[in-house]
Amino acid sequence: MSTVLDPPGDLLAELRRSAFRPSRTRGQHFLNDPSIARRIVEAAGVTRNTAVLEIGPGTGALTRHLVVRAGRIIAVEIDTRLARALEEAYGRYDHLAILNRDVLDLDLPELMGGFDETGFVVVANLPYGITGPVLDRLITCHGKITGAVVMVQSEVGGRLTASPGTKAYGAITATLSYHYGVESLFHVEGDRFVPRPAVDSVVLRLTPHDRPPVDVRDASLLTTVIRAAFQHRRKMLRHAVSRLAPGSDGYLSDRTGIDLRRRGETLDLAEFAALADALWEYRDHRRDHS
Ligand code: SAM
Repeated sequence: MSTVLDPPGDLLAELRRSAFRPSRTRGQHFLNDPSIARRIVEAAGVTRNTAVLEIGPGTGALTRHLVVRAGRIIAVEIDTRLARALEEAYGRYDHLAILNRDVLDLDLPELMGGFDETGFVVVANLPYGITGPVLDRLITCHGKITGAVVMVQSEVGGRLTASPGTKAYGAITATLSYHYGVESLFHVEGDRFVPRPAVDSVVLRLTPHDRPPVDVRDASLLTTVIRAAFQHRRKMLRHAVSRLAPGSDGYLSDRTGIDLRRRGETLDLAEFAALADALWEYRDHRRDHS
């Protein structure tokens, strides 16, 4: 690891003086408040023993705190101009690798597996357009991720921490909660970014469960059931389970005690797990008798 040097100066100010124009489609709203950047990195608990995957380093608001704290950083930036500017400013840190790639094109488990570290902490001020797909990837490679601190739009944060039966509760809330504990840490107002976004943001911490909070035979079937239940969220659960296994509704309601006239959005994770297990048994039963 390189000796810790003073991090580079203010790349954002430099870019603002140049012809650089932030791209709206890439969600380029750069954090312009060092105390918030520091709080995010502190919340991630980054030390010299930590390996970090930073998504969208941009002008380095978080990177400049990460380089003086973390043991290794992989920073993935889609924008070639920013990746170049970062390379110039941070090239002297040999524990930092800047990848000029679309994070969604990367095989993250393979990327992380290429390093000695046993797990990575994800740190990001996420561009709005890729928040959903990034969360899906955090779920897929949760075995390699020891934690994540991510800034998202407030409304998304509300969805990820919502309780069953509320409007904000959705498939991603339930699915994410199977893999991670999700905490809302603090709000960040729009005026802390350049350019200013239309909405405020919230910083979330995701902590992988040592053991999933509910037992289920087949985690991917649990995801399938949750997705089906929210596909037509105003419809009764009966419709969703009938699409997954026609004729199974009587068996499922007897086995779980769940009234399938309820809407999927009212079920908590334990109820979804019970439904997924009953569906697994139903299919297994049918296989044996066919
Ligand atoms: N981390 C910086 C900060 O806090 O100021 C920048 C955050 S800005 C909200 C999002 C960054 O993600 C931008 O630099 C943008 O170019 C980058 N980005 C957008 N889509 C990306 C993708 N698919 N893969 C990698 N980086 C991406």
